[in-house]
Amino acid sequence: MRLLIGIDDVDSPRGMCTTYAGALIAEALREVEGLSFLDYPFLIRLNPNIPFKTRGNGAVAFYLEVPEYHYDYLKETLVSIIERALIRSRRKPEPVIVFYKGTSSKLRRFYEKALTSMVTLSYAERLANELGVEYYALGKGGRGLIGALAAIGAIPLREYTFELLLYRSPSKRGRRAIDPKWILEIDRKYRDYVFANFDFSSKRLLAVPHGPDPVLVGIRSVNPLILDEVRIFLTAKCGDVKKWIIYKTNQGTGVHLKRSLKIAAVKPYDSCTISGVVSSNPSILKGGHVKIKVRDDSGEIDCVFYKETGFLNRVARFLKQGDRVAVGGGIRPASSRHGLTLNVEVLRVVETVKIRKVYNPRCPRCKHRMKSAGRNKGYKCPKCGFKSKNVRKEVVVEDRILEPGVYLPSPIAYRHLSKPKRLMGWDVKYLSNLH
Ligand SMILES: [Zn+2]
Repeated sequence: MRLLIGIDDVDSPRGMCTTYAGALIAEALREVEGLSFLDYPFLIRLNPNIPFKTRGNGAVAFYLEVPEYHYDYLKETLVSIIERALIRSRRKPEPVIVFYKGTSSKLRRFYEKALTSMVTLSYAERLANELGVEYYALGKGGRGLIGALAAIGAIPLREYTFELLLYRSPSKRGRRAIDPKWILEIDRKYRDYVFANFDFSSKRLLAVPHGPDPVLVGIRSVNPLILDEVRIFLTAKCGDVKKWIIYKTNQGTGVHLKRSLKIAAVKPYDSCTISGVVSSNPSILKGGHVKIKVRDDSGEIDCVFYKETGFLNRVARFLKQGDRVAVGGGIRPASSRHGLTLNVEVLRVVETVKIRKVYNPRCPRCKHRMKSAGRNKGYKCPKCGFKSKNVRKEVVVEDRILEPGVYLPSPIAYRHLSKPKRLMGWDVKYLSNLH
């Protein structure tokens, strides 16, 4: 029988992460006789713009062919693996593991909702009960059900990349024994097929995390075979590698911004794209953040380009009132100090307006700029005294620095789901939505 398994919220600030639990489970699954993987293990990132989320907001899932008689044994085994892996601490994880034997378009819709908006636990529970999804909550609460259910709803992924994760022993602490030179070598060798390893402008290593989790390094690619070569290379170099896994994932696809919304329809914590006209020139906020207003036929919204987005923040300064744009990002709720705000993650400049500047005419005799001689009296030159009614104002069309196109943040500001520059052109389906 075909079986979908989803897991979420195993993370703990003291050093466990859901991807590692996924690696433990994959290992256990490989030992089960007669079981086959119908696809890679999945790492599914969900809406990055909701407030109470686990770091990275990722869940894992498996798509398997399992002999019927193994089913109960499998459930017990996997539940006990998660229980043993859990680290109980102040931020109490609420891990949930789900098992589902069917397929349902309702699950797919649930995934799409969890990717782009805020879904409630009660909605997840209702859906699980309606579809007969078996689920086990292994902590005090069941919050992990949302991610676990969404993760199985994401299968099969339509747009995806891959990530190789190498782990050290979870008890090991301190600096990771990964030489940045190795990462640069990988980046050079497989350029255009790997991404988000290194931010060359800030010279920051992106592939190596800093938290207490057991991840040594994560390498992202559009090709899993390249990742297998990378794994062999890194395992030979670094003695700390204890486990590894390659996930198929929605990371790097920009899929969370696929939904185009009218401004009047956006809700707090949505991830979406809106299209409209810049209705106020950029203003620079304290801290260097740039704010514009964008208007469509349904309303107007503040859009903020945070300083942290680097290149995107610098580009936003060149926008002008009247420019046609599409902006994608997360909706921040209104507060006493600001209204509903879109935090911009991607900008598409559709069309720039021509900026016309109008000057008083120059004096035909001495080329000095003339002054108005009064209403309907023409102009007079303050230098030589020449007067005329037959001179016209000078109109200058300024060149715009900003050109139509897609603008992205600096790599340091990439989020898991952001489509990186290197992947532009691999599949631009989502960009056609940024109209
Ligand atoms: Zn003059």
